[in-house]
Amino acid sequence: MSLKRTLLATAIAGLGLLPLSSVANEKVDLIITDAMVLTMNQDKTVYENGTVIVDGNKIVAVGDSSLAKQYSSDTVLDVDGDIVMPGLINTHTHVSMTVFRSLADDVPDRLHRYIFPLEAKLVSRDMVRIGANLGNVEMVKGGVTTYADMYYFEDEVAKTVDKIGMRAVLGETVIKFPVADAANAEEGIQYALNFIEQYKDHSRITPAFAPHAPYTNTTETLQKIAKLSLEKDVPVMIHLAESHREQEKIAERSDGLSPVKYMDSIGALNKNLVGAHMILVDDEDIELVKKSQMGVAHNMSANIKSAKGVSPALKMYDQDVRIGLGTDGPMSGNTLSTIDEFNQVAKVHKLVNQDRAAMPPIKVIDMATMGAAKALHMEDKVGSLEVGKLADIIVIDTKAPNMVPVYNPYSALVYSANSANVRHTIVDGKILMKDRNMLTVDEDAIRKEALEFTKVVRSTVIESGEVVQ
Ligand SMILES: [Zn+2]
Repeated sequence: MSLKRTLLATAIAGLGLLPLSSVANEKVDLIITDAMVLTMNQDKTVYENGTVIVDGNKIVAVGDSSLAKQYSSDTVLDVDGDIVMPGLINTHTHVSMTVFRSLADDVPDRLHRYIFPLEAKLVSRDMVRIGANLGNVEMVKGGVTTYADMYYFEDEVAKTVDKIGMRAVLGETVIKFPVADAANAEEGIQYALNFIEQYKDHSRITPAFAPHAPYTNTTETLQKIAKLSLEKDVPVMIHLAESHREQEKIAERSDGLSPVKYMDSIGALNKNLVGAHMILVDDEDIELVKKSQMGVAHNMSANIKSAKGVSPALKMYDQDVRIGLGTDGPMSGNTLSTIDEFNQVAKVHKLVNQDRAAMPPIKVIDMATMGAAKALHMEDKVGSLEVGKLADIIVIDTKAPNMVPVYNPYSALVYSANSANVRHTIVDGKILMKDRNMLTVDEDAIRKEALEFTKVVRSTVIESGEVVQ
């Protein structure tokens, strides 16, 4: 119905000539009703009995359930009191590595002794596509609607994202040694530039540079990427302030600077940067991070599993740094849904701060939604349920035994929920998962293909004994 007709109908109804419900009935694409709506807007408005109205790929109304009467739709999700909230945003992963999940979890110095050699043998276009397909399904089923990825052959990841209907920031890796899709950093930059050119106008995919880390790239490479990213206005994703090895190598290179100060000193700390981990940062580093407007990806489960340490993420959040939750890759985290991070993020920060009240659940949910949107500079488009924003929405089952009862929805999400409690996932106004059934891809075929690929992994790596298990 046109705005004019709606206004006329409202006016007629207002005169008492007709009941409002029978006339002011705007046709929209999707109505979600009878929901406990967590908007995650500035005021953290909650509608205990609420509705979200979607038309096209945008949210056109959010409010109490009575609002739904003004609209009609062929698709109505009456969610019977379930939690409706913004889709989760995973700010850091390597989605294709699902096919390596559970290999060598406890090998010391694992990245250099195990993962890099493993990737040298097995990364290919096929591997990237197969792993991404599986990881995408895992994320949609876990309520992730947007993710940020760093890997090789990102154009293959992009095809899988396009197909399933998710939103993603995809960073093509640049690293100084030979890898599957580039012989050196220069070729990596070229690959990234081609990828950026190919996807720069895609509505759901943001192509990006992904220099692996400061110490695995030269100063010149990092500077060149920083310059190109500003010219093309694309993100740069990097592992930053993650390990003592990195800290030592960078200190040697820069007369004792921390990784963050080094990046600042070479002109590579800017608003386009998204730093993953940020464990080894002090107060001066945090000031620089804040000033630069860069984003931060906080990957608790990966950081504690690898015993690398706990990022002062809470301190950064409290100082208005753009910070969101990430899972890291499935060899690190090992799951890809940020719901499974919630519990750990809340509890570890309490423990580290020796304060039960240090990390209230609402902060964790904010970091998984608006905080993550800010980290990726997408806060104008996603991260909250507000009129005009893109319709990335998830519905959490509140009838599952582990979710009953829900006195406080934020507590229930952080301390009780798991990724299997996600009932529906909507991205860009389109339902990608309904009642846990994938609607845009064939989940069984994807699982079968991934399992088939594990035979290659087993034969080339495990049985050969060439790589430490
Ligand atoms: Zn990572």
